[in-house]
Amino acid sequence: MAKRAETDKTTDPAPGFSALGLDPRIVAALGALGYEEPTPVQRQAIPPLLAGRDVLGQAATGTGKTAAFALPLLHVLTPNAAAAERLGALILVPTRELAMQVAEAVHKYGKAMGILAVPIYGGSPMETQLRQLKRGVDVVVATPGRALDHIRRKTLGLSRIKVVILDEADEMLDMGFAEDLEAILAETPKGRQTALFSATLPPRIAEIANRHLQNPVRVRIDREVVPAGSAPRVRQTAYVVGRAHKMATLGRVLDVENPTSAIVFCRTRTEVDELTESLNGRGYRAEALHGGLSQEQRDRVMKRFRANTVDLLIATDVAARGLDVEHVSHVVNYDVPTSAEAYVHRIGRTGRAGREGVAITLAEPREHRLLRNIEFLTKQRIQIAAVPTVADLRARRIEMTKTSLRETLVAGELDAFRAVVDSLAQEFDIMDVAAAAVKLVEARDGVEGEEIPTVTMRPDRPASHHERGPAPKYGGGKGLASKASASKATGKGPTGKGRITPEWDVARLYIGAGRAANVRANDLVGAIVNEAGVDARAIGAIQITDRFSLVEVPAEIADSIIEALRATTIKGKRVPVRRDREQAWKS
Ligand code: AMP
Repeated sequence: MAKRAETDKTTDPAPGFSALGLDPRIVAALGALGYEEPTPVQRQAIPPLLAGRDVLGQAATGTGKTAAFALPLLHVLTPNAAAAERLGALILVPTRELAMQVAEAVHKYGKAMGILAVPIYGGSPMETQLRQLKRGVDVVVATPGRALDHIRRKTLGLSRIKVVILDEADEMLDMGFAEDLEAILAETPKGRQTALFSATLPPRIAEIANRHLQNPVRVRIDREVVPAGSAPRVRQTAYVVGRAHKMATLGRVLDVENPTSAIVFCRTRTEVDELTESLNGRGYRAEALHGGLSQEQRDRVMKRFRANTVDLLIATDVAARGLDVEHVSHVVNYDVPTSAEAYVHRIGRTGRAGREGVAITLAEPREHRLLRNIEFLTKQRIQIAAVPTVADLRARRIEMTKTSLRETLVAGELDAFRAVVDSLAQEFDIMDVAAAAVKLVEARDGVEGEEIPTVTMRPDRPASHHERGPAPKYGGGKGLASKASASKATGKGPTGKGRITPEWDVARLYIGAGRAANVRANDLVGAIVNEAGVDARAIGAIQITDRFSLVEVPAEIADSIIEALRATTIKGKRVPVRRDREQAWKS
């Protein structure tokens, strides 16, 4: 049976958030979501935003930046106002995926206050968006191109906007949205509050901030965190997996690592409870530990953990902070921690007293930069490894069986079983008898499961936060990382700047629309990013002629991009898309 931790209802659901000055209804919503305390970026950005200040924030995905800007803006909205007067906040984001995620986050946080948020992005029908806008919303989360379309059609009026957020500003510039941003901001009132969040702050972002932010408060969470004393002997590994495969990956990693004792860290109490339940369902002995438990409940859990009746402790940072645990063999971060400090604190629970420790982190593709930042700030390497395959697990199991057999042989006392082997040996080769016995053991502990699709990162290298990190690679399979082939592509994108030279085979796509149809580079980049879910940095050179355009993309995902583009419209029209027949491009 799964053991679900009972929550002690008498405790304040999220006291750290009340202290920041947030509306009690918001604090209650955060408590219900299982948030226990603000992340560093939230602690720094929320008070000035609540005070009406502009904010310039450097924060990567995974730091909790969305809540950092979304929670304060809920305070200035007027959800009971008439439809035409309701829209109070505009959040601009680079991609459709992010527009949906941010709108969903605003919805979650503001539901109790009656806040309505709508995502507006290219590729989805105008009519639905028009209907939603007409009915009245409090927050629009939009990609710049589509926002501008609506402004020009006069279906999005920004004259009453109180807050504008530019999220992932560096990505928006990379995608060629600079002019669109200027045009949109020109439509908003001068006295608005503005916040700009960006993972990197290159000069062109500083320029935008100078022009559009007034005396902003700078928020930056990155500080060097070198662990005090000598660095512990900790093997640090990360697996990059999609959200849908995290649970399966955790199970696979636990099976391969076979920890003697481990703490698995999660961000929220909800996640702790869910994970504990599913791990118990899969036959692990796991217990939940979070801030919602009474002292008595915690003591009970800890007693069982120390007595080894529990193998896995699933915990939030808050709950683990006061923990009196000597040493665990493994620390697993089910999510990348929201700051380097939290990471160091978590992994400090293993590798103690000169013993070997293992720290494992599961990261979603979009969190790779956060991982790199942690690496940079801790001055320690985190090896990105491929998720163990079923074959890896099988090999590991055989290894474990071999070890157990060896131990059993050494321990002796086999006389009772010799007779069985003896009689079988009359009939069969003794080697086969032994092999059959091993097979039986293997079948009993049978390895099942499907392969977990991997998202391979490009070759590992420590990144400085002043430069772009390696681009994530999309799609499963062997991975571009393993291919040494550097293409001859120039790596010039629509902006020319901020792009990195592709290190993958390039395919050139023919798109049957060009200047005559008003196609601009960012229309093509936007369509590919939004429709095919490709990182903008994976797109290479773009050439636009009067009648058609040519775009370089990673060869490995060319077909899926073609399929996605054929299913959508560019500048409102369906256009032919295929591999460029003239292509003499060889890497
Ligand atoms: P973001 O960096 O905005 O993409 O957020 C990353 C993830 O952290 C999201 O899944 C949020 O729901 C989660 N999150 C944000 N703030 C907190 C918090 N204070 N405690 C726990 N989880 C959080």
